[in-house]
Amino acid sequence: MENLSKKIRAIAQRAANECPYYRTLYSQAGIDINSFSDLEDFAQLPIVTPIDLSTNANLFKSQTADIYRVTSSSGTIQSPKTLFRTVQDTKTSVEVMCRLFSLAGLEAGDSLWIGQPFDLAHLGYISLEACQKLSVLAIPGGLSVTDQRMINLLAFFQPNAIFTSPSRMCQITQYYLQSGEKPPKIAKILLAGEPCSAIQRFQICDFWQIEPHNLYGSEETDGLAGSCSQHSGLHFMDDLYYLELVEPGTNKKVPDGQAGEAVITSLYFQGTPLIRYRLGDIIEPIPGQCRCGKIWTRIKVIGRSTQALFLYDGIKLYSHQIRSALTSIDPQLTTYQAVLRRGIDGADEIEIVTVAAANVSPAMHNKIEEALWSSSLDLAAAKDIGKLRLQFNPNGEMFMTLRGKTPEIVDLRENKEHEFVKGERG
Ligand SMILES: [Zn+2]
Repeated sequence: MENLSKKIRAIAQRAANECPYYRTLYSQAGIDINSFSDLEDFAQLPIVTPIDLSTNANLFKSQTADIYRVTSSSGTIQSPKTLFRTVQDTKTSVEVMCRLFSLAGLEAGDSLWIGQPFDLAHLGYISLEACQKLSVLAIPGGLSVTDQRMINLLAFFQPNAIFTSPSRMCQITQYYLQSGEKPPKIAKILLAGEPCSAIQRFQICDFWQIEPHNLYGSEETDGLAGSCSQHSGLHFMDDLYYLELVEPGTNKKVPDGQAGEAVITSLYFQGTPLIRYRLGDIIEPIPGQCRCGKIWTRIKVIGRSTQALFLYDGIKLYSHQIRSALTSIDPQLTTYQAVLRRGIDGADEIEIVTVAAANVSPAMHNKIEEALWSSSLDLAAAKDIGKLRLQFNPNGEMFMTLRGKTPEIVDLRENKEHEFVKGERG
């Protein structure tokens, strides 16, 4: 613990010395970064958010580190978050990816289809370098190939492993199911980019007859955790990242062992240090040692927490409130999409879509709508004013971003239809 404390103090002090954003933030909060001594002091530092990062990217940048590249999120739904990387930052990110690949059983002699971004978001490049280190043959397919082109290339190269998003994996699974075409013999499936729902996992296991491995990370942090041969949670790289769990939207630590919103500190980023960065995911720690023998602690990613629908009169509805309302009636309803539209009369219309939720009886349907209305006090209060309408659709089609992700919240009020396509999602 003392070592960790020292490491964290050094990285926070460096951020305050080198990055204008942290310097101003801490001085405005009246914090003397040189005086803090332990993790409790560290927990007093203000938390930074994705909005802080996307609007102040240049102020988060170290003024002394030797930057060699930028990485950035696509910004399709939110403003892009730009980070600056040093050569050493990237080397460590590649090292993390090697660990996550190895945990997923990837080894020399395998051939891997990399269906991840090769653009401003650099997961593809990191994966490519990890393949080189592990002597895995890389097929850098990227994200921009169409499903048909991907199918053709899979038939040609016959990889034995695929690394893509759950949505994309389900899409091509669907293709093979419908076309009857013979798929390549895939022995390892690695998924990243979005949470894998129970239904997606089922579809993938059922068709390919293997359990997929989940890799968890974000565009800001690169890889953070991944599943091993035991498939019992994700091993979190706690020697490179410090994870705190807080009550969503607050700086209040949750009791030990309980799920909370992830606040992350990179112990190695130098270009854009991330100190107490609110990731926006709800994470639950898994107690005990994994049977695989690896010592990295294990976590379970429960879902996004910070996505919010901004409604009539400043009312906010958070994604975790929708999720809780649904699972309070049926624990299987963990995958949903909230679609927000503007009615002709100017009212906000929320449609909560779930997929393949078999056997939703009319009574259950009503119960779910009631639970959704009750998910936030403000929402319940606004029900009678007529400025909000809410509808539960247990068997709808979900929207997908052009990058193949299925977001929990889709706001179509600002004419953003061109940013999505509609399709059968799992
Ligand atoms: Zn394990």
